[in-house]
Amino acid sequence: MQDATSTTENDVRQNADPTELHNFNQLAHTWWDEAGQFSALHKINPLRIDFIQQHQQLEGMAILDIGCGGGILSESLAKIGGKVTGIDLADEVLTIAKLHSLESGIPVDYQLESAEEHAKKHPKNYDIITCMEMLEHVPEPMAIIDAAAQMVKPGGWVFLSTLNRNLKSYLLAIIGAEQVFNLVPKGTHRHDKFIQPAEIDTMARQVGLVLKQGAGIDFSPFSPPRLSDSLDVNYLLAYQKPYNNEPL
Ligand code: SAH
Repeated sequence: MQDATSTTENDVRQNADPTELHNFNQLAHTWWDEAGQFSALHKINPLRIDFIQQHQQLEGMAILDIGCGGGILSESLAKIGGKVTGIDLADEVLTIAKLHSLESGIPVDYQLESAEEHAKKHPKNYDIITCMEMLEHVPEPMAIIDAAAQMVKPGGWVFLSTLNRNLKSYLLAIIGAEQVFNLVPKGTHRHDKFIQPAEIDTMARQVGLVLKQGAGIDFSPFSPPRLSDSLDVNYLLAYQKPYNNEPL
């Protein structure tokens, strides 16, 4: 068994926040409860799949899901025919992901590994990389985007989602979702860790990814979530890696 100290040092070395991983581990057992702590992820999941499929079909594609958690997105991608690898650094969360995959019979290759380590072993390996609702939980999001850019094949796709940083997102994602409506567990998010779309785009451009589409997720406690044109709060970005540095 790992002791807490070594995990912490290891996490810091791995561009991970030990408090964040601890919080996710604590809630691991509730991951697949659609009415539970992660109900918001369950609700937005079909929209993420729609968004991805607007750009790329999934059948037979090699897909990496970074920060896969309990596997809500990973399993959906695999169910449609993707060959999915899911990586995360929260060990108890990954245990739940593995168990659920055994139970559902939807195969996903789950690995306890950082994106940066995975990138060293698997350059230009994936047709599609997803990293959803994770960048706002890591110390250096740029390092994750860089790793994704290294691992995606030329012509392949990188799909990112996170939360914008502005007054509206503070009111809706922190006050509304955490304090008033209990849509996500209290303390899940820190507003200062939210990332504006232009900031993501600056990072993505630096590593050679080209923005193809952005979409918002309109989330209301009273109606089903839907894709929208407003990137004010929760948003998705679709990036493509150019072939041999040619313009797309
Ligand atoms: N992407 C999933 C889960 C989002 S929750 C989904 O959208 O359905 C955020 C996940 O990121 C958690 O599982 C957490 O353990 C993981 N995470 C946080 N920091 C990480 C890091 N540095 N490396 C890998 N995973 C990380």
